[in-house]
Parts: sequence; C-alpha cells; structure tokens
Amino acid sequence: MINTVIQAPLARRGLLFILSSPSGAGKSTIARMLLEQDKHIALSVSVTTRPPRPGEIDGKDYHFIDEAEFHRLVEDNALLEWAKVFGHYYGTPKAQVKQGLREGQDFLFDIDWQGTQQLYQRAEGDVVRVFILPPSLEELHRRLRSRNTDSEEVIAGRMARAQDEISHWDGYDFVVINDNVENCFEKVRQILNSERMRRARQTGLIDYVRDLMNTPSP
Ligand code: 5GP
Repeated sequence: MINTVIQAPLARRGLLFILSSPSGAGKSTIARMLLEQDKHIALSVSVTTRPPRPGEIDGKDYHFIDEAEFHRLVEDNALLEWAKVFGHYYGTPKAQVKQGLREGQDFLFDIDWQGTQQLYQRAEGDVVRVFILPPSLEELHRRLRSRNTDSEEVIAGRMARAQDEISHWDGYDFVVINDNVENCFEKVRQILNSERMRRARQTGLIDYVRDLMNTPSP
C-alpha cells in the first residue's frame, strides 16, 4: 500500500482572481455567488470615495472614505492599485491581500481594467484576469435601469463608459458572455478551479510527488 496519504489540502500559493466588466453585465452577482459557494476565496474589499448605495455596508462592500484619506493612502503607498472611475477614487488596500496570499488565501477583485493592468504588472504570476461581457448593449441598459439605484444621468454615463470598458477586453485571460447567470457562474467557477490546479501554484506538490517517486511500489 502506498503510505503517502493526503490528510489536508496541499500547500498552494493564493491567487488574485480579477473579475471586470462594464457595470450592469452581472459581475457583482457572479462575485456574490462565488463568495457564497467557495469558502477558499475572499473578497478584496476596496476603499472608495463614492458614497454608499442603499444596502451597502461599510467594511463589507467597500471601505467608504473621503478624498483626503484616499490621497493619504496613495502617498503612504498603502494601495496595490488605484484608479478614478466615474469621478470617484477606488483602490485596493495592500495589507489584507499580502498577508492572505502568503497563507494560501485566494482573493476576488471586482476592479476595472486600469486596476487590472496595475495588479498584473505587480503580481503577474498570481493574477487571473476574467472579463464578463453583457449579451447586448440593450440588455445592459435594461439591467442598469432595473437596479433603480442610479439616476438617468448616471446610467447614461455608465452606458457611454461601458463601450469604452469593453474595448479593454483583450487585456484579460478569459472572457465570458453573461447571457445566463447560472451558466456564466459555472464557467467562472471552472476557470477558478482550473487555475488553482496549475502546477506552478501547487507548491506542496513537490514533496508529495517526491514521496510518490521514492516510495517502493506496493
Ligand atoms: P461601483 O461604483 O459600481 O461599485 O464600481 C464602479 C467600478 O469601479 C466597477 O467597474 C468596479 O469594478 C470598479 N472598482 C471597484 N473597486 C475598485 C478598485 O479597488 N480598484 C479599481 N481599479 N476599480 C475598482
């Protein structure tokens, strides 16, 4: 009998799993489903100067801060990446992510293409970039309106920006069209699980395979 028995998951480097899309393409729903159903990935909670929307919780959805504090974080080099989106600042605090990655924690990032480029430059090997596309611009418009959270003016701005964001699709490793939320979620989950199994990420494999090779066959 082979005496190498895996008791616990093998050690693995955590990964930075980025989901980007034009707003309204369903990214937040997919992110929520992933966080609910996969206990090994945690949301990287961004800081933002945007005011909270109804129902959003400080510290859970975002850390809501003012511009002075945001600029202080930038000056202190406390953000992994940051960008100005729709007139507000958004950024990823460094501390939580750096510590978690070392412990094998995966992080989900709901960030735009500018932040994605910055993260990729800093941590190329640990980053997986997924872009979610809406099935059509009409559907995108319908979804934005049905949210009832933004004014017509804001929605018009988001529609205009959507096409600009879509033009950055080629900066991503994977592209998924969200024509059905369940199917889209399943595809995103497959991507995550496949990326976890990359040999280079499974640091614990070295000892495991060495054991397999050096143990006399039964
Ligand atoms: P919302 O205001 O709708 O929550 O987000 C607006 C946009 O900002 C979305 O595209 C979202 O992905 C992006 N965003 C949220 N947090 C961050 C962040 O920390 N960094 C960057 N670069 N973009 C972010």
